[in-house]
Amino acid sequence: MSRRPTVLAVLAASALTLAACGGGGGNSTATSEADGENCPGDVLDVVVSVNQWGDIVRQLAGDCADVTTVINSTALDPHDYEPTTGDIASFEDADLVVVNGADYDHWASDAVTNLDPAPAVVDAADVVGLEDEHAEEEDHSDEDGEHAEEKHGHGSVNPHLWYSPEYVTEVAAAVTDELSALSPDAADYFTEQADAFTADLKPYDDELTALQGMAAGSSYAATETVFDYTAQAVGLTDATPEGYRDAASNESDPSPSDVAAFEAALADGSIDVLVYNTQTEGSVPEQLRAAAEAAGVPVVDVTESVPDGDDSFVTWQLTQLQQLADALGGGQ
Ligand SMILES: [Zn+2]
Repeated sequence: MSRRPTVLAVLAASALTLAACGGGGGNSTATSEADGENCPGDVLDVVVSVNQWGDIVRQLAGDCADVTTVINSTALDPHDYEPTTGDIASFEDADLVVVNGADYDHWASDAVTNLDPAPAVVDAADVVGLEDEHAEEEDHSDEDGEHAEEKHGHGSVNPHLWYSPEYVTEVAAAVTDELSALSPDAADYFTEQADAFTADLKPYDDELTALQGMAAGSSYAATETVFDYTAQAVGLTDATPEGYRDAASNESDPSPSDVAAFEAALADGSIDVLVYNTQTEGSVPEQLRAAAEAAGVPVVDVTESVPDGDDSFVTWQLTQLQQLADALGGGQ
């Protein structure tokens, strides 16, 4: 829990990214540097597409990798992200690239495809057996300027894999395996880092277990699918009206009747908790939030990415899980 230097390194890395983006082009990489003195093997260059995985990879790699995370800010939408030339350049030197996959960060997968020699790749969706075969067909229309409020679909697979406790464990193990293969003299070190990561996850696992006791018989509805894997893991029933859920996960706007059905469900008490993604706001989600508040349905705020300035994956997740516990009445 108390890893000050690491935390500062991440904060510094975030600041670098923001500065680089504002500066328009050039070098936009944000790297947390390894202390090679502490690494018993080769120090690796690792590039991670998004900070949801970046924080985890950084912990697993410790002092045996410089870890560059391309998207470090909740101000950037990973779905619509256009990499800069600097981002592309950071991939070129990578020994290992970690992407989410499932068409979530296809810009990163595309950047890797063109590299020669190709780096090792951990694709989280592949690791957990969820790669979306039809991802290529998705249409990425760019609506200028506006936050495309409901254009948040992701093909046929829910790509928010870091919200699944099981997937986090599986992907972390795959990253450790790949790191060990690339820097074999550090294999024992990577095993120790993996054990430390597992220990760090304990409060998160404990909170999930506590929630499993509280969630039985309770339902949630969500403005987006972002939190669904966690909701499933704790045993909440998804009461999101079907028409709305289909629209939200298929890049289309919910119809007025979908929204009306959602509001009615919030009003009639069939939804116990509203899960609200604060990172992609829009008029419809705001309207649903207002309906929840009017009906006395508690709202749990979640984000797509690790919030700017948050300590770590675990801290971020715990904050959200505790909100959920409060919403379910476990705070009493
Ligand atoms: Zn999303």
